[in-house]
Amino acid sequence: MNNATRNNIKLDMSLSDNAVDFIDDDRLTYLIENTEENEAEIERIFEKSKSKQALTLEETASLLAIRSKEGLERLYETAREVKRSIYGNRIVLFAPLYIGNSCVNNCKYCGFRASLGNKTIRKTLNHQELVDEITSLENEGHKRLILVFGEHPKYTPEFIAECVKTCYETKSGNGEIRRVNINAAPLDIEGFRKVKEAGIGTFQVFQETYHKATYRKFHPENDIKGDYMWRLNAMDRAFQAGCDDMGIGALFGLYDWRFEVLGLVSHAIHLQKTYGVGPHTISFPRIQPANGLDRKDFHFVSDEEFKQLVAVLRLAVPYTGLIMTARESEAIRNEVMEFGVSQIDAGTRLEIGAYSKEKDGSQDISREQFMVGDTRELDSVIRWLMNKDFIPSFCTSCYRLGRTGEHFMEFAIPGFIGNFCTPNAILTLAEYLEDYASEETRKDGYALIERELEKMKDSSRRDAVKVKLSKIREGKRDMLY
Ligand code: SAM
Ligand code: SF4
Repeated sequence: MNNATRNNIKLDMSLSDNAVDFIDDDRLTYLIENTEENEAEIERIFEKSKSKQALTLEETASLLAIRSKEGLERLYETAREVKRSIYGNRIVLFAPLYIGNSCVNNCKYCGFRASLGNKTIRKTLNHQELVDEITSLENEGHKRLILVFGEHPKYTPEFIAECVKTCYETKSGNGEIRRVNINAAPLDIEGFRKVKEAGIGTFQVFQETYHKATYRKFHPENDIKGDYMWRLNAMDRAFQAGCDDMGIGALFGLYDWRFEVLGLVSHAIHLQKTYGVGPHTISFPRIQPANGLDRKDFHFVSDEEFKQLVAVLRLAVPYTGLIMTARESEAIRNEVMEFGVSQIDAGTRLEIGAYSKEKDGSQDISREQFMVGDTRELDSVIRWLMNKDFIPSFCTSCYRLGRTGEHFMEFAIPGFIGNFCTPNAILTLAEYLEDYASEETRKDGYALIERELEKMKDSSRRDAVKVKLSKIREGKRDMLY
């Protein structure tokens, strides 16, 4: 980065200059090209994963090298087992809320990019429109949001903090937003400090591609986003600002998917080593059709490859939550949830201002960043999850009781799910069933809760949950473990 100011956005020169490059492109390429499927080694790695230890880059490369049908089946089975033993059968639900699509960058895959000019309808929610969106989301039953922004001088840390404040302050009936995550351009240390003070949950920045030559191809050098190192060190700046809850990600389809998995694992290892805490979540969006996107530029990732990459990530970073977004279709979500995913969005709308409009299920590519694959309403996603024996959860407890970062890692040990996650999932599901569910979902939901209570080994915990459930039926809300 050679300008202190680009496109009117001030950058923290000293950090960009001293940035640490923890992605060794040559080594990652070497591992991909020279690692072969080795049954004995793979079995050893599966055993290590089952003891919930994070994998090295070499071990991750061994799992990425699996090609045989039997090897892949074993991989999926092990991922399923590790997922169940760490995260239980709960799936955390959230909704993305797009605040504004003005953008100064020109990422070749994005429908918001500046060069599309008015081929993309530009909009930033004003205060009242934001309140209307939040109210609509609350009225559907959402408790957790991720606010999404383009990169533009008007989306300052103060503006982001103000949006977060509005989310927490807006209440509708029993509805309230209890956790606000952010997906926005990387900030400088001071910026991260400001948004942390506003009470954010996770701050997500996706590297898009960890492969430097490919990064240059998709992000023009004169854009702010053209600076690979500024983006790569975003999480480091966040840690230095006191944030300990970060989400990383790669946009699958820009380069070889195996390289991106090794990039994500390198990133996780770097954060763990340097700050004692790995990323809270990893996202793995696949490229979707978008305004002005030219298909020949991309390395599309097949469904089979996608399944493998999710399963490998599950084993490589056992304590990191995996997010699968509504970019994926219901069919893919159906298959992949089982062996890796801990969070999904539901009832998703990307058009800015769409939550408070009449819903007709249509998507307009000139108003949205990209097309989504799963357009089902929250209530039907919840029913679908329950029929697959997952507990849909709106839990926000860890973050609100200070169980984040290093502290959270300590809690991610046997017993934690039974004592905290499952009870909180049940209680937040019951709130949903009381306040927002359709008749059918309510019936299925209470049947699921009965089954879950029966499964609880600790009878005093079961009784305590039953007491809280009757309080919820009487109208009490937000009881945390
Ligand atoms: N503008 C900020 C940035 O670039 O960091 C905020 C993120 S952008 C609004 C959210 C993410 O959407 C990007 O990081 C990228 O990974 C993803 N994305 C962009 N275009 C996409 C497409 N065509 N299909 C799927 N995901 C896409
Ligand atoms: Fe802008 Fe982000 Fe889209 Fe790139 S991905 S054009 S930075 S909104």
